[in-house]
Amino acid sequence: MLHGYIPPHRFLSYLSWVDIDALPDRKNTVIVLPCGAIEQHGPHLPCSVDSVIASGVVGRALDKLPSSVPAFAMPTITYGKSEEHLHFPGTMTLTGTTLLSTVVEIGESVYRAGFRKLVFANGHGGQPQVLEMAARELRLRHGDFVVVPVGVTRLPNASSKQISEQEKRLSMHAGHSETALMLALAPETVRMDRVAASFPPPFPIKLLSPDGRPACAWTARDFGPSGVIGDPTSATVEQGREILETLSDSWVQVLAELHALEWVVRDEPTWERGHQTGFIQTHVPAAA
Ligand SMILES: [Zn+2]
Repeated sequence: MLHGYIPPHRFLSYLSWVDIDALPDRKNTVIVLPCGAIEQHGPHLPCSVDSVIASGVVGRALDKLPSSVPAFAMPTITYGKSEEHLHFPGTMTLTGTTLLSTVVEIGESVYRAGFRKLVFANGHGGQPQVLEMAARELRLRHGDFVVVPVGVTRLPNASSKQISEQEKRLSMHAGHSETALMLALAPETVRMDRVAASFPPPFPIKLLSPDGRPACAWTARDFGPSGVIGDPTSATVEQGREILETLSDSWVQVLAELHALEWVVRDEPTWERGHQTGFIQTHVPAAA
């Protein structure tokens, strides 16, 4: 069925319009839009990695979320802006403007349905800028809309204690953490017999890049023919499960606190388009 990794009772699109219209407190119900990509992830991983991880982590968090916290996931956006990987077959990319329009229009639909809290859970490192722009645009259009763009694996999790210093500094794509998470979420798609490490040479201008990450614009092919930028060789399913559990615990906390987040509209004249009002932010601690 369409929900994939999302628990069916937390999948917004399984509700009818009548059900959605009858939801209590839509204003504080948290809607999550997993944002993925279809792009090469080296010889050992499928092209769907970022879509699987975005929906898999969100789904696990919604599995564990207390029923007292109203939250739903939308169907995952499985295509993203993947132009830095277009030199490999299997990469299916939108342009940045297409993704921006898509996400803003979905956000508008979420707002129109009466929801006021929306999270973009992004699984692809090549598009946070687009999602940040979309979030800002939605905020400009609607003064009472809380839109949060966040990398789905950026919340605290066990991966930092599993990986080497070199991985920490230079791994960007199809490395240890993505491979371990895929072993936990979709093991049948992972080819550990094909894993090999590949790192870019450290960027030589220290003031631009203290940790050696490339400071100039790049495409994945610039760093070698495999498409891997990292070291997936030591990833295990146990590590992937540990990342998934710790990461989804962090997401449970974030969703609960977003639900409890209270925005007080400050009614004052402004020069924004649409005469939007300003905000004072207060935070109501989540009930234990
Ligand atoms: Zn990826």
